[in-house]
Formats: sequence, C-alpha cells, structure tokens
Amino acid sequence: MILVLINQGVQMKSFFKFKKKENSGISDSARKERAAKNQPFSPNSVEKQPRIKGATVTESVCPYCAVGCGQLIYTKAGEIIDIEGNPKSPINQGTQCPKGANTFQLTVNPHRIKTVMYRAPYSDKWEQRPLDWAMERIAQKLKAARDADFIESKDETTLNHLTTVASLGGATMDNEENYLIKKLLGGGLGIVAIENQARI
Ligand code: SF4
Repeated sequence: MILVLINQGVQMKSFFKFKKKENSGISDSARKERAAKNQPFSPNSVEKQPRIKGATVTESVCPYCAVGCGQLIYTKAGEIIDIEGNPKSPINQGTQCPKGANTFQLTVNPHRIKTVMYRAPYSDKWEQRPLDWAMERIAQKLKAARDADFIESKDETTLNHLTTVASLGGATMDNEENYLIKKLLGGGLGIVAIENQARI
C-alpha cells in the first residue's frame, strides 16, 4: 500500500512538471483563449477577476459582540470595498454570523440615515433636526424623569432605580458603545430596562 502511494506521488510530480513545461511555452492571452475554448465559459467570464484582487488586506475584529470574530478588511485607494471573516482566526475560522457578515453594508450603504429624524407627538411625519437639538432635548427629558421618578428605597430596602426610562439599542452598536451605555444608564442613572442585540 505504501509503495502504491509513493508511486502515485512520483507520477503526480512528473505530471505537474510536464504541465508546467507545457504552459511555459505559451503566452498569457493564448492560454486564456485556450481556456475559454476548453471550458463552458464565455471569454468575458474567463477575463473576470474577484473584486478583492489587488486590494490591501487589514486584519481586524468584528465590532458587534463579545465573541470577537476575526475579520479581513479589503481596501482600494483608501476606500473599504469588502469585509469578510478571517480564516486564520481561531475563533471563527473565516465564518461570520449574519450580523458580522453584513459589516460592510453598515459601513458603505447609501440608504443609511445620517441625520437625526424626529416625529413630534401626534404628528404623522418625520422631520430632520440638528444633532445638538436632539442631544439637548434628550438630556432635559432624562433629567426631568429622573428627578421625578428615581426611587432610593422602599420598605427599608435600598433600590436606587429608575423605572420610567428605558434604553433600546440597535443591533449595530459595538462593544464599546454598549459598555458605556451600561455604565452610564445602569450604574450611573439607575435605569433598569436596558436592552440591545449582542449585549455584553
Ligand atoms: S456579531 Fe457575529 S460575527 Fe461579530 S463577533 Fe459576534 S458572533 Fe462574531
């Protein structure tokens, strides 16, 4: 059995040597032409290249959850053109969950809303507002609710909680944002109802 395998190895080696010699005698264009003739592909398909070919590859980590899957970020001329799982990562071995697999679409997406949208009470339409206006309004509302509803203790039990304010985070918030929200809203202000996807 061992002999057979060795023999096969020698034969394969000779085969590759032979193929190499054969290929080295023809030009690139002739090889492509021959490949196109021998394959059920159009010349157009033979010419196609993966869009990440020639891109700069940077190793990174998925920002979304504490699993910490490895990612490869592909850039061309300083622009991100793709983000994929890193096969070398011992955590995910090139795979990504659906959220991580869409990291590129979060980064590069013409449909992403980049301004504050506000819908007034009883209104049926959304309006654009400046970020400073929104931050000030949220701060004032939060302060008023906490001043009115914060409970230090009840029936001689210390509570230090605020149950009339809740925080609902989006799926694309990263680890650092979730950490800060938990520290500020939970530990700092006593808010109990804090939720988001991929929390820490
Ligand atoms: S969000 Fe998904 S891809 Fe990203 S680290 Fe968590 S499990 Fe991995």
